[in-house]
Parts: sequence; structure tokens; C-alpha cells
Amino acid sequence: MEDIKDRKVTVIGLGRSGYAATLLLQSRGASVRITEARKEDELRHLARELRRRKCRVEWGGHTKDFLKGSDLVVVSPGVDSRAQCVVWARELGIPVVSEIELASWFCKAPIIAVTGTNGKSTTTTLIGEVVRAKGLTPVVCGNIGVPFSQVVSGVTPEDIVVLEVSSFQLEFIQDFRPWIAVFLNIADDHFDRHKDLSEYLAYKMRIFANQKNTDWAFINSMYQDTVGPFLRTEAQVCYFSQSKRYNENQMAVLGVAQVLGCVPEAVDDIFARFANLPHRIQRVDSVNGVRFVDDSKATNPASTEWALRSMDRSIILLLGGRDKNNDFTVLRRYISEKVKRIILFGEAASKIERALSGASPLYHAHSFKEAVVMGFGFASPGDTVLLSPGCASFDMFIDYAHRGRSFCEIVKEIKEQFHG
Ligand code: ADP
Repeated sequence: MEDIKDRKVTVIGLGRSGYAATLLLQSRGASVRITEARKEDELRHLARELRRRKCRVEWGGHTKDFLKGSDLVVVSPGVDSRAQCVVWARELGIPVVSEIELASWFCKAPIIAVTGTNGKSTTTTLIGEVVRAKGLTPVVCGNIGVPFSQVVSGVTPEDIVVLEVSSFQLEFIQDFRPWIAVFLNIADDHFDRHKDLSEYLAYKMRIFANQKNTDWAFINSMYQDTVGPFLRTEAQVCYFSQSKRYNENQMAVLGVAQVLGCVPEAVDDIFARFANLPHRIQRVDSVNGVRFVDDSKATNPASTEWALRSMDRSIILLLGGRDKNNDFTVLRRYISEKVKRIILFGEAASKIERALSGASPLYHAHSFKEAVVMGFGFASPGDTVLLSPGCASFDMFIDYAHRGRSFCEIVKEIKEQFHG
């Protein structure tokens, strides 16, 4: 498949990754067309640009006819394996691959790939820093921001690609083979898309499937028994676990650093300098001795649990948003230990209330702003108002970053009014 010159390729899904995949395919001499179900303004200029480049664009829906005659179908990360167009491609006998699989065909550098439900961006960023500390050039890409397809043509054999991979992208890999692959964790997230935990796990484990005995597989030991039945790899397998000094993400980074030959002191230095990524347990400001922390990226209960685990007591917790069929009872333990009050907002409020009642006093806010203001009202000096919603943001916001920014703005208003 690597030889795609003059092949007819259809890309499904015009987002940043689909767009980048289309340009990559064109640059390698393939005849590319792209089909997109949505008709959103933000995509319109991409569609226009591709048409200008003589690429046929199907817009606002997919048809089976459009796929006919293709030698290959490339799916963007946002496309479900059960989506009708993927089913059609399979019915037509067309091979289907993901965008990272496509990009990997043209990658001249070793790949370090990171997957898991939570902590991918943080760990990917830290590994990028380790690569840099070793005097090599990291190309950090994938789910974290820049699509792999967008950067792969500029990658040289001396670079190291550090790739954040979602399970969605692993659904359609064939030959994708990372030199080092990291599996951080699994939580019951994305069940709106994956049938159940075993299907989700089976996809995650594919990250190791093509590795050889010169490659490395790093796996969180907490999941050793869970992943065992799905793990097929020739790679050297290393299990890591949280220690007194390092959390799981850091332990994974230390493992990778060892393979790269980077000394632990240099890695400690990286940890010490690392400020959390935006909207991940990020300190916003203090008002009257009350700390405000933005963890808007916590879009499932496991990531909220992580935030609670890593923080001191005396928390006023802002929880809520759109539920993804998650179980919130996992939060009870840390809530009883550390949370003084819970403020609920958004669609999932009643469900969360049922799961957590009795663990800590619960209050309902009618709006997001009211939730933050109430949180401050309940807090005493020394307390932390923590936005770690445990839910998706789409009921009230464009995305988690929008929710986080909104939190920061409200904190700013509170501060201005307080110092009035
Ligand atoms: P991802 O890219 O997988 O979404 P991020 O690094 O962006 O991961 O972090 C997402 C959320 O998960 C944040 O709220 C963060 O605090 C939390 N988190 C980070 N690492 C972990 C981990 N190992 N386990 C659980 N939650 C985590």
C-alpha cells in the first residue's frame, strides 16, 4: 500500500487531519477525493482550498457511489468504525486505514507513541522534552495538535516522532509500528463510541501489535491483568507503576528516558520545570486566600479522580457537563476525604447527584457562572475551588478549552469585584 502513486484514494472526514492526509496523498502522486458529512463554516474554507487543488469534495453527507473505484480509504480520527461510509467501504472491498497509519508509511524517523484514556498530552509533551534534552529533535504531533500527516514529510531520520494516539486512530492501523509505545491507562470513557471495555481495550492494544523484539512496550502495571488477554507483541515489555516520588505519567517518561539513554537527573529537571498544560490542573489565581484551579480537560470521572488524588484537602469541586455514560461513584472515596462541597452544573447534574449523594454536601447551580461564584462563596481562605468537571463540555461550551477560558474570565471578574 505504501506505493500510492496514481492510486485512487478517498479520505473520509474533512477536519485538520483529513485535510493534512489529503495534501500528503496528493504530494505523493495519488488521485485524492474527500467526503465530509458536516456542513460547518469552519470546514468550508478547507473544502474550498482542496477544490482549488483539484480535489473532488463531497460535502454535507456521504454516498456509496463516491467511494466506488477507490483503491484505498483513509479515515480521519473523528470517524466511527461503524459509520455507514466505513461499512460501505468494507462492502466494496476497499482497504481502510487511519490517518496515522498513512503518515507512518512515509515516516523516516523512529516513533514514540503514547496512548491511554487520560494523560496522553501531558506524557507526550514530557517525552518530547526528554528527546530534546538528549540533543535530538522531537516532532511532537498527533492528537495533541498538529496531525502526523501534516509534519511527516519534513521529518528526517535523525528526528524522533513523539505521537499522541487515540484509540479511534488505532482502529484502522495495519503496519503502524512504534519503536517505543506507551499505554498509560484505561477508564470507561468514550463508551458513547466503543461498544464496551473489551472492544476499547482491543483497539488500544493494537499499538503494540506490529512491534518487533528491538522495540519497547511500556504498560501501566495497574492494568496488567486487564490488558493481558489483548496483548500480542514481540516487543520488550516493561511495566511501570506510580512510586512515592513519581506519578504514573512520570514513571512512563522515566522508562522512555532510560531507553533513550537520558539520565534520571535530566528528567527530574524536566519535571521540575514543567508547568502543567493549559486546563490541566492549572492554577489560575487566588482571591482572598482562595485558590482557583482549572482542570477543564478532565472530561471523565477518572481524570477528576486524578486531580483529587494529586491535591490537598479543602476542595470545593465544580462538577458537571455532558455525561458520556460514565460511572461517577468512583469519585466517592476522594470526595469524602478531600471535598468540602460539590457544586453541580450542566446536563449531568442529577445523575451525578444520585451517584455522590452523602459523600459531601451537594448544590445545584443554574449556570456555569453561578457555579463558580457559589464555589467562591462557600470557600474559606486556604480552600481550593477546583473546576474538574468529569464530563464533556458540549452541553454549554464549544469544547473544554472554551469552558476553561470561561472559568478564568469568571475568576477575573470575581477578583475585580472583591477588590472592587
Ligand atoms: P489526554 O491527552 O489523554 O486527554 P491530558 O494530559 O490532556 O490527557 O490530561 C487530561 C486530563 O486527565 C487532565 O484533567 C489531567 O489532569 C488528567 N490526567 C493526566 N494524567 C492522568 C492519568 N495518568 N490518569 C488520570 N488522569 C490524568
